[in-house]
Amino acid sequence: MLDPRVASLVKGLFGEHYKKMNASDIAPKAVEKREFGFGDFEKKIAFRHVAFKSAEELKRYLVENGPPFVNASAAEYERPDGRPMEAKGWIGSELIFDLDATDLKLPCQQVHGRQWVCDICLSSIKKETVRLIEDFLIPDFGFSASDIEINFSGNRGYHVHVMNDDIFRLASSARRQISEYITGSGIDPEKLFWLLPVEKEGRKSFEVLHGPTPSDGGWGGRLAKGLVGALGTGIGTLEEMGIEREWAGKLFRNRTAVMLGISSGNWDMIKIPKKEEFWKRVVKNMAIKQSDSIDRNVTNDTQHMLRLPNSLHGDTGLSGKRLGSVSELDRFDPMEDAVAFRNGTLEVMVQKAQKFTMLGTEFGPYDNRKEELPLSVALYLLLKRVAVLPNQ
Ligand SMILES: [Zn+2]
Repeated sequence: MLDPRVASLVKGLFGEHYKKMNASDIAPKAVEKREFGFGDFEKKIAFRHVAFKSAEELKRYLVENGPPFVNASAAEYERPDGRPMEAKGWIGSELIFDLDATDLKLPCQQVHGRQWVCDICLSSIKKETVRLIEDFLIPDFGFSASDIEINFSGNRGYHVHVMNDDIFRLASSARRQISEYITGSGIDPEKLFWLLPVEKEGRKSFEVLHGPTPSDGGWGGRLAKGLVGALGTGIGTLEEMGIEREWAGKLFRNRTAVMLGISSGNWDMIKIPKKEEFWKRVVKNMAIKQSDSIDRNVTNDTQHMLRLPNSLHGDTGLSGKRLGSVSELDRFDPMEDAVAFRNGTLEVMVQKAQKFTMLGTEFGPYDNRKEELPLSVALYLLLKRVAVLPNQ
């Protein structure tokens, strides 16, 4: 349980923050058709089925209650407060992707645990988000940049929303196929390759393994481009693709011939045992790591709720941020640009925390130290549950 003094301090600060915002910057499109859900400090969605008639009404609620978590439906409904779900009258849903640093299974997470977020976590999940948009959504699905909205979640990930007329009415099954394609789970690499018989004096004499070329679209082209690119970089990059060291070495030594072959669709230079496993591993490494077991269904669940863009996050005190484009995402630094409380200080007792940077200043590492810190830093540590308020 969070210290009740911290809980009421945070709710008060959150309310004041919302008071200063324009209602139109808080409310999602079609606010009156969205279902809202609110969380407390223990549960991200404690209650739902809430509706607001206007942006102003939503703002008023946030100012009065300062909720730690504000969630809004990706769907629009005729009656967003109707229950059960079937009574709401589903009109359509955005297509959403939930990318979270913990799904990347980074080595740093073994060191700092799931609750903490470091620079590596933040930069890796940003790269993954750019890859989703630039390597999949735009080239393979033909979405245009203006259909895509990116939101910083307020903690350690990004939510990507895709919205156009074709997507809006798409059924769950079609959404699942998109998710499977992007996460590589719907891809059978074996189907991308075939044996081409070569004839000599009118008789079949041998077979050559053929496959995709770098100019092909979809997964075939992605594999070919990925392998050619990695061959040009080095053994380490090949290993990052999921290729075992021994094979990475062999491929790299023969790279000129291998690259030349792939450029014309001839993959015969790559004589690898257990090919099926090999390619599955490579596909898995090139796929987008979307949220695991619990959230894998985010994309195909047409009733899912996500953190309201631009709302505050109760585990960090940081603000979610709506980012207009990939180039805006590139420039975005969460520990600077998502800081909501830029004035004041607060004395806290920091129990244990790794070094981190916020507002351009390095803090920590801490080990049981009482310190007066900038308000945003103190809130971050309190809400990450690595600091407490002093006892008087
Ligand atoms: Zn990390």
